[in-house]
Amino acid sequence: MLSEQLKEIFLKSKDPFADILGQENAKQGIKSALLMDRHIIIVGAPGIGKTTLAKNIAKLLPDIEVIEGCSYHCTTEEPICPSCKQNKKHNTIKLDGAKRFIRVQGSPDLTVEDLLGDIDPIKALKFGPLSLEAFTPGKIFKANNGILFFDELNRCPEKLQNAMLQVLEERKATIGSYDVDFDVNFIFVGTINPEDTATEKLSDVLLDRFDIIYMEYPESNKTEKKIVAMKGKKSASVSDELLDLIVYFIRLLRQDEKLEKKPSVRASIGLYERAQSNALLKGRKNVQFEDIKDAVISVLSHRIRLKPSVRYLQSIEDYIKEQFHKNIESAKWQNHLEEEQQSGEYR
Ligand SMILES: [Zn+2]
Repeated sequence: MLSEQLKEIFLKSKDPFADILGQENAKQGIKSALLMDRHIIIVGAPGIGKTTLAKNIAKLLPDIEVIEGCSYHCTTEEPICPSCKQNKKHNTIKLDGAKRFIRVQGSPDLTVEDLLGDIDPIKALKFGPLSLEAFTPGKIFKANNGILFFDELNRCPEKLQNAMLQVLEERKATIGSYDVDFDVNFIFVGTINPEDTATEKLSDVLLDRFDIIYMEYPESNKTEKKIVAMKGKKSASVSDELLDLIVYFIRLLRQDEKLEKKPSVRASIGLYERAQSNALLKGRKNVQFEDIKDAVISVLSHRIRLKPSVRYLQSIEDYIKEQFHKNIESAKWQNHLEEEQQSGEYR
């Protein structure tokens, strides 16, 4: 079992999720859920690190010997795809955990056949439903012996959600008119974006079978600054003061009551990177205040959305300009900086 392999790592290592800064509650929740072999759904806004966290889980999985040339990571002990089941002689190769990560993007168009596989009814009569001739494995098979990262599960049709549940709970699936056993071995990590309104509601039955892990925006300025400095590209130098300004402004918008769509950490990273481009284009190696100011509209206007009551009175571009002027160009940001310096928060 994959969870057995993780158990040892979780109990031994103090922070196995070193790729994620902060998020202590989420990390704790994931460890605890996976120790008991439970299915998890991570709830959090886009850009918060859900994918990184799931990839991090995959990385923790130990190397295994898999059958060479099989895209479903079959092992010689437990072949799952029709081809490996049929051919008895195999060469094996070593495969690390990071390579056993598969992402499925939830969407209304995703079908049960895409996900689980398709059975040709005529060939099934002759060769059997799961034979090499009749069965085309779906995406889920690629997650065998690894992580199935199911992004935005709530965007999928309910029929597919139920099929997924049947596989997770009973290791069985109904494909066409066939009920088939499903021996695919994987850890399921689904995600839901709570701000996404144009989606199917997850049924209570479904939610009842999962443990929900919440990921919040970075807990402090300091953590977000570290994330931006770690993930952002570096081609011009950004002083700590200006990095502080970027993060401060984004976090201020995140608390803004007038916004229905809030800026993610990607917005902070975007501003950080685009300010550097602006500096380089002006022949400088260090970012100045105006480089940030010149980037805000382009980085933010599509990443945030005003509530309808405000949207009809003011364009998003004007709103961003106004907020930047009010909170940054005026003295407010300087006050914030001084407060941080006094409290020792500033590094
Ligand atoms: Zn195989």
